[in-house]
Amino acid sequence: MTAHLFKGCAAVICDPHSVLRDVDLLVEGPKIAAIGKGLVAPTGAEVIDARGWFLYPGLVNTHHHFFQTFVRNRADLDWTKLSVIEWLDLIYPIFSRLTEDCFYHSSLTAMAELAKHGCTTAFDHQYNYPRHAGKRLVDRQFEAAAKIGLRFHAGRGGNTLPKSQGSTIPDEMLESTDEFIADCARLIDTYHDSAPFSMAQVVVSPCQPVNCYRETFVESAALARDKGVFLHTHVGEGESQVIAARHGMRTVDYLEQIGFAGPDTFYAHCWELTDTELRQLAASGTGVAHCPEPVYLVGAEVTDVPAMAAFGVRLGLGCDGSASSDNSNLMHCIHSGYMLQCLVASRRAHPVPEPRDFLGYATAGGAALLGRSDIGRLAPGMAADLFAIDTRRMDYVGTRHDPASLIAKVGIAMPTDLTMVNGRIVWAKGEFPGLDEAQMAAEAEAVLATINA
Ligand SMILES: [Zn+2]
Repeated sequence: MTAHLFKGCAAVICDPHSVLRDVDLLVEGPKIAAIGKGLVAPTGAEVIDARGWFLYPGLVNTHHHFFQTFVRNRADLDWTKLSVIEWLDLIYPIFSRLTEDCFYHSSLTAMAELAKHGCTTAFDHQYNYPRHAGKRLVDRQFEAAAKIGLRFHAGRGGNTLPKSQGSTIPDEMLESTDEFIADCARLIDTYHDSAPFSMAQVVVSPCQPVNCYRETFVESAALARDKGVFLHTHVGEGESQVIAARHGMRTVDYLEQIGFAGPDTFYAHCWELTDTELRQLAASGTGVAHCPEPVYLVGAEVTDVPAMAAFGVRLGLGCDGSASSDNSNLMHCIHSGYMLQCLVASRRAHPVPEPRDFLGYATAGGAALLGRSDIGRLAPGMAADLFAIDTRRMDYVGTRHDPASLIAKVGIAMPTDLTMVNGRIVWAKGEFPGLDEAQMAAEAEAVLATINA
């Protein structure tokens, strides 16, 4: 069994409310064996000099669209300057040209950036199925996750409603409900592992209620309950009025009536929910993946995170896809999410959450949304998912008072010094061990060039 002893950590942030100073942390196999002073390395263990290091629980990203990584930083697609319709008309022709290789390399690109910045578990919502690209897109994502070494929860998304019936999705990207459900079942049977320390899970994730038939959501919930997997979709992005006109009730009621709600379900965004709807989510145990960076870009309404927390809604944090957030850096989102709530705090009745709460959303909060009790905090018996920041740099002078709030308050501009997933070092000393980053980047650029040609 491989073992690693982190010797002399300046701080181990077990969770946002428990910080141990000047301790060692021992990893044996995939899990944490001990945290304490004066730990002795077992025979054959790698001893890592962790003096000056803060060790954090690995971050859990709860919403993303990896395939969008190939449309970052494009002025012609800047949705702050376009109407939603103009933006959709420009971006979907690009999305519809993506090939199977594009899905693989964009996923590899996003996951590499996530890992460099402390993310150890990623959920991705892959809803783009151009007909020519085939059905093996999530399969290739599992391949990419294994290459980087990331723990991966694949959201098998999809759209079924034609544009002629009110959807915004081009017809060449649609599937039938039967096609969608059959492929979800295939992926669950092939990849889903519910055992402790599982590295691969599948989440049934129809894209959003406005772009699917009702039966797609009904059958998704039935399949997920039958197979014992989780459910995910987009909610409260401005569609509640459309759903109300179409189905006679807003999105939260509509999904609750279908049974697409509960402790095994989490929604992305939820910008526009009323207090009553937030209380409904809290009562049903439905979670929310809050993605702060698209909120900056849309600018219409700031998600009321303190209200959600006060009502007891379970919260995780997400980068979101790169069509509406140009990075895959969850550490950055901890900082931007906190700053965003500070901006609007004075306009609201409730207090701003503590900065450390945002670390909590990005760790234990996200783990709970994905149904994981083996990740999200550092303790003996938990999976060894963690990252290290060497605070012996000028960047951190004067910041070491409160390690649990460091990321939210100060913001971390650089990659971690080390990221470990399931007891394996996936990023250290500026490199992905065993991988050639320059070559991976060049290969991804070459594939990207094929769709921009
Ligand atoms: Zn999304």
